[in-house]
Amino acid sequence: MLERRRERELVPNYSLTGDLLSFMRCGLQYRYQNGSALPPSRPVQMWFGEFIHGVMETAYRLWKSSPPAFPWPCTKTPYNANPPSNRAAHDIGVIGDVVEATLAAAGKNPRSRDLRDSAYERAERAVNEIGPQLFPLVQSAEERVIGTRPLTMPAGMKARARMYELHGIMDVLSSVTVGATGNNALCDAVRAVVPNLPSGAEIIVDYKGAARPSTNHPYWKQGDWQLQMYAWLRSKQPNAAPVVAGVLIYINELALGQAGLGELQRDVKHGRTDVKPVPGSRDDYLLRTWTPGAQIPAFSLEFRMQRAIRAVPITDPSMTAALAEFDKVVVDIESCAAREAQHGKIMAHWPAGGDDPTCDACDFRHFCPSPAAARAKPGYQPPAPDTP
Ligand code: SF4
Repeated sequence: MLERRRERELVPNYSLTGDLLSFMRCGLQYRYQNGSALPPSRPVQMWFGEFIHGVMETAYRLWKSSPPAFPWPCTKTPYNANPPSNRAAHDIGVIGDVVEATLAAAGKNPRSRDLRDSAYERAERAVNEIGPQLFPLVQSAEERVIGTRPLTMPAGMKARARMYELHGIMDVLSSVTVGATGNNALCDAVRAVVPNLPSGAEIIVDYKGAARPSTNHPYWKQGDWQLQMYAWLRSKQPNAAPVVAGVLIYINELALGQAGLGELQRDVKHGRTDVKPVPGSRDDYLLRTWTPGAQIPAFSLEFRMQRAIRAVPITDPSMTAALAEFDKVVVDIESCAAREAQHGKIMAHWPAGGDDPTCDACDFRHFCPSPAAARAKPGYQPPAPDTP
């Protein structure tokens, strides 16, 4: 006898970076950006990261079809003006125009002229410094991966589905090329964490529109989990080879700004980073003698590449641990949504947990109740220090 057709079941669909890592950055900001009818007017982190991804993907495809020699020019279109004429197809300014137009069509724009300028500066460095080392290793670019996980809600809370779906995008490298290529910072970083690369395995790569986090910052651990989760998603694709390592490329390290350099100086001083300049080297001298507000020093390419590239080994236990962490995040998001639906209040049910840089760039800081949001408001006066 035929069974009655079951009701169609909803499977919530989560993006690892767009949803889970955004929620971990700040639950309330995530809710306002993604859950409300009002789209964010300046989704800054989203624009910057997606701009870098878009430029690198287009640059890779151009390089693959007709490899123009590096360095590629970067004649960017001035802010709110017409594009310059006579630019080559591989001019990073031309690539940037297409990527900017695609993002603008999705409502994503840079929040300021300065941010756009720094995005082009970093995109130019990424193409001309990372590109020559990365592009020859890529087996497949912008691989889309998808997988499902069980969704188990806490006791007393009804799940809206039994599963959730997770997706992500990554570049994939082959262990054969990575193992055999010499004089390459990316291969060196991978071989340092997996000295005996098995033949036929894969290495996954993703870009971060950020600086290398301090090793005691939550972003440090979250970056590792992201790679583990991507590796698990990759393993769920048909005919997938095992993933033995993952690489994050922190693009901002190629051209640090004032804030990033100040952070690096503090991280080195307090032992909160795994990549420091060699003591007594020129990079060491430049970093120690720099003072905030002074010109950004010209660090060596070798040091900047070491800071930008982070490789982590992938194993079954490390993937299982990361999966458990992300399962918890999905349960947290679903629980916040359920409580909001029950009580009709947003602020009371989504955690406002942004750190200072996140709040500084947040559209919702004007009405957000968190202390970090108060510090990000124009005209904020810090309380007077306690006097003895
Ligand atoms: S101001 Fe800060 S705490 Fe408030 S929503 Fe924005 S990021 Fe979150």
